[in-house]
Formats: sequence, structure tokens, C-alpha cells
Amino acid sequence: MADKYAMMKSKVVEKLAAEIISKRKKELGHIDLREIQFAWRFSEKSKYHARTKLIRGDNRIFTDKKISIVVWRKSWKAHDEAWQALLIYHELKHILEPNKKGEYRLVKHDVEDFAFLIKLYGIRWEKASLFLEELRKAV
Ligand SMILES: [Zn+2]
Repeated sequence: MADKYAMMKSKVVEKLAAEIISKRKKELGHIDLREIQFAWRFSEKSKYHARTKLIRGDNRIFTDKKISIVVWRKSWKAHDEAWQALLIYHELKHILEPNKKGEYRLVKHDVEDFAFLIKLYGIRWEKASLFLEELRKAV
């Protein structure tokens, strides 16, 4: 069984995040990709598909990054490209504009998930392909 803490940096997720931010500048333009560490989580079980956290306190000893986005590899592989894109968009939507000191803040979910995502893409994101279509169309 994979170690719960077996993680690895992810270029794949970083690339996808870069695309999403560049196509959705109005919403996400405040996010500086260089300040985010993207990583896979390789465990057998996970309570989340992906998780966005501020890197704070003692953890700043190990990195200059301010935010971590960890994606559970097993569920990533079980879903299609559109779902994956929506997942990363969802994670990026947690990140609010930095304050005057340059510190990011995260927004919590309303109810179970962001309500607007459910409205647009279905309760189980069954319409995730719409998101990817819009994204690829955007300049
Ligand atoms: Zn979330």
C-alpha cells in the first residue's frame, strides 16, 4: 500500500493550472503560479480529490511557495480530461487575492461545494465537458 505521505511534484497539474489561469484572467489573474506547489498524493485512500492549503508557519522553512495544491492521483486517473480541468479550476477558485502584505487567503466552500459549479456543471460535474469547451474556446 502506498505511503499516506508519498507525494511528488506535478508538472501536469501545474501546466493545466497555467492554462486555466491564462484563459480566466478576470477571475484568477491574481494568482501567481510561482507561489504554488503542485503535487500528487499517491495513497490508496483519500478524503479529498484535491486540496488547496496555505503554506504557513514552520512549513515555510522548507519552501518559498505560499500555497500547496495536492491532487489525489487515483481519482485523477479515474476521470476524464474535462473533470480534471474542472477540479483544478475548483481548487484555484479557493484562492482569494493577497492582502497588502502579499499573503493569500483561501475561501471556504458554501455548503458542500461551490454552488455555482454545481449549477453550471451538475451535481456530480457530469457536464464538466462544457467547462473544457469554454476554456479551449477562450483566447
Ligand atoms: Zn474545494
